[in-house]
Amino acid sequence: MSERAPAIVIIGSGFAGLGMAIQLKKSGFDDFVILEKSDALGGTWHDNTYPGCACDVPSHMYSFSFELNPGWSRMFAPQPEIRAYMERVADKYAIRDHLRFGAAVDSLEYDDDAKRWNVALADGEVLTPKAVVSGQGALHVPSYPDLPGIERFQGTTFHSAEWNHDYDLAGKRVAVIGTGASAIQFVPRIAKQVDELVLFQRTPPWIQPKPDRPIPAPVRKVFEKVPGAARAFRGGIYWALEARAVGFTIDPRLSLPQEKLARWHIDRQIADPELRAKVTPDYTIGCKRVLLSNDYYPALTRPNVQVETSGVAEVRENSIVTEDGTEYEVDCIIYGTGFKVTDAIGQYRIVGRDGLKIQEAWADGVEAYRGTTVPGFPNLFFLLGPNTGLGHNSVVFMIEVQIQHVLSCLRLLQARGGDAIEPKPEALRSFNDRMHRRLNRAVWNEGGCQSWYLDENGVNRTLWPGHTFEFWAGSRKAKESDYVITR
Ligand code: NAP
Repeated sequence: MSERAPAIVIIGSGFAGLGMAIQLKKSGFDDFVILEKSDALGGTWHDNTYPGCACDVPSHMYSFSFELNPGWSRMFAPQPEIRAYMERVADKYAIRDHLRFGAAVDSLEYDDDAKRWNVALADGEVLTPKAVVSGQGALHVPSYPDLPGIERFQGTTFHSAEWNHDYDLAGKRVAVIGTGASAIQFVPRIAKQVDELVLFQRTPPWIQPKPDRPIPAPVRKVFEKVPGAARAFRGGIYWALEARAVGFTIDPRLSLPQEKLARWHIDRQIADPELRAKVTPDYTIGCKRVLLSNDYYPALTRPNVQVETSGVAEVRENSIVTEDGTEYEVDCIIYGTGFKVTDAIGQYRIVGRDGLKIQEAWADGVEAYRGTTVPGFPNLFFLLGPNTGLGHNSVVFMIEVQIQHVLSCLRLLQARGGDAIEPKPEALRSFNDRMHRRLNRAVWNEGGCQSWYLDENGVNRTLWPGHTFEFWAGSRKAKESDYVITR
């Protein structure tokens, strides 16, 4: 088959795209292309290079189950090491020849007669695969806040996911907007370099101590040489992380010890009562992602760092004015303001069977059967699709389950001699109804916070509400009775 009509197109080369490609190869499918908009593989682990960028899930768990890395240098590996792991894995499974860089997808349109997708690229080329696997995830379109007057600002601005390494922060007056997972990693690093740092906090996150430490060489040797050691260690981490989910899955009150630990962390690391009060959240722990850090609070106590809780009223040529009238002269504004989660999947034109646009299918909210497939969009699979995110464990686990689901759909097609497979609307309905009944009572809706987990109607379209083994049990194999196969 020519490259214009590969059997399968994979979009994105992060953990999802890479994992899909490897499992296709392992299952004997070789006729696929990976389209990567960037100039290198790695997805979010290629884009995010901000100082201090590291995993906040233990690395032995935040890696492929079929490709353990006994050599992780730390419990929570830094970004360059994670990227190097991904490059190594791509080499080992001979994925490079399938990768096309600088290949941004413009639109996906299903041709019902040909039973093929038309995948249009930004440069005008059109590929016509039988199936498309979207491996984009939700965290790749940087979100910039709409600060009044920002266009007048004469200094430097950039987003954490597009870090400007050419800009020397030494001696500069810097404003950071946002205090999420990214900001708490780079703030301690840049606080040491800059002259002054003003941190604009809208909502404080709950933060717990990070059990991070180097993994000594003899321990790494054991992981490498002793059969089963690395897998047993990974298993221990998996169950420890699942135990943390009881507050999400059973009752938020079970998270009380987690909240106590986070309060103790504040008290231990911050002496100033005013600063303690500023950084102490007023919502239930778990409502927003629980963050881990040992150096964030100490950074806030530095004399050159100020935490500002008043909102931004106006940006001027060389300053930021807060709602309570304080004016900060700054040379640079760094956005740690996260990603446009809702734009991430429906970012480009996707037209399915009978001209159905994905925006129409999702007019009432983003949803997919088992987070992966959508009625009316045959042979289209979303990895890390709706409600497959996690607050407590590694999304690589979820990705691997979804990959198994995709493979089982492809096997069903093959076994039944079909051309197209899509979920039944009623299968999606019943899956979604059950899931949303759980979500509506969960801490993300009931915990008293606003977060990007919820859409504009307050519906959680992002997270899986249960334990990850529940997702594994119900999703790794496609149930034939939930699908329609056309010949
Ligand atoms: P985020 O968690 O969405 O945090 C964005 C921050 O910016 C929040 O503090 C938010 O405040 C603030 N913000 C947004 N818009 C604002 C505005 N208009 N004015 C003032 N403040 C504003 O984004 P992130 O830190 O980039 O993390 C996103 C996700 O990426 C994480 O949840 C996590 O899943 C992932 N991540 C993972 C790692 C890792 O180690 N594996 C590291 C970084 C990120 P509010 O809270 O008030 O909205």
